[in-house]
Amino acid sequence: MAGLYIHVPFCRKKCPYCDFYSVGYREELAEEYAKAVIRNIHYYNEEYDTVYFGGGTPILMARHILQILAECEIKSGAEITVECNPLEMDEETLKILHECGVNRLSVGVQSANDCELKALGRSHTFEQARLAILMADSIGFSDISADLMIAVPNQTAETLKRSVKSLAELPITHVSAYLLKIEPNTVFGKNPPENLPSEDETAELYLSAVSLLENAGFKQYEISNFAKAKFQSRHNLKYWRREEYLGIGAAAHSFYKGRRFAVKRDIREFISSEHQLEIVTDENPNELEERIMLGLRLCEGIPETLWRKVENFLPLIPKNYYKIENGRLSLTPNGFLVSNEIIATLLSHLEGKNAARNE
Ligand code: SF4
Repeated sequence: MAGLYIHVPFCRKKCPYCDFYSVGYREELAEEYAKAVIRNIHYYNEEYDTVYFGGGTPILMARHILQILAECEIKSGAEITVECNPLEMDEETLKILHECGVNRLSVGVQSANDCELKALGRSHTFEQARLAILMADSIGFSDISADLMIAVPNQTAETLKRSVKSLAELPITHVSAYLLKIEPNTVFGKNPPENLPSEDETAELYLSAVSLLENAGFKQYEISNFAKAKFQSRHNLKYWRREEYLGIGAAAHSFYKGRRFAVKRDIREFISSEHQLEIVTDENPNELEERIMLGLRLCEGIPETLWRKVENFLPLIPKNYYKIENGRLSLTPNGFLVSNEIIATLLSHLEGKNAARNE
């Protein structure tokens, strides 16, 4: 069964590192946007077992989320996630979400250190994020994920340790720990912040985050994702296990009915179209390549039927970057740090082999 991703492209203000598609929030615009989302839900007419509202800041549209979910065919027991900014998590809004069936929150905490939050241009303090998570817990949300950012300006092994410790004291089930990436079309891309950790320091910080989170009971299951037992994100697993998901909204991506397509980063066009315009990015994706590329992001790795296709090339990859256990090949945390290079190497070998076969 497919998952549903709804992109909500509204934020109160743009964070200087962020290149996700978003515009300033206006209630009239949000209303029109929700109507267009509902038109598309009827158009595709699917049943879903996961729903994910990402953004942007979807919690800004809590009232509309209620209307949107009422129009969706959702399998009983589905995972329904909403991304939240701590400043928008007031009691009334959280109650609306809880009552309309949202059962998972993903909160943009980023750090427990207010100097780091400031350097990231975040408008909240850690205390505000902490209180917001406690309130969500008291309202009845039992599956809460927190985002943590690694390689933030001025971050040290010590401040990272304190952030993980502070997160672990909260009633959360999941942590997404992302490396800060300086994207060209962002404020940071144009004016890089000072005191960014070096490449070696970044690697150290990542490896230390992996072991700190594991010691705190959050088991790594993907390059950037860690969860307590049974709390892995079912929706996000669909991406890496190459299962179908439909993306609705400006800038949403889909892997649906065998094709990969995207929607233009243009809220006006999305609102004014009867149905969203699918820009096909891959009409006929290569299943073998994609299963290797996506599967190696996961700690469960790939099965023998897949890695045997590239095994001749494995001796060229340092031994501490991968392991083969119970017939599955997976990358180690050291390997995850250079996963793009490893995957590119394995796939180019595959391409070489295919080319040779075609000659
Ligand atoms: S990081 Fe989140 S809140 Fe900040 S601009 Fe990006 S989507 Fe909006």
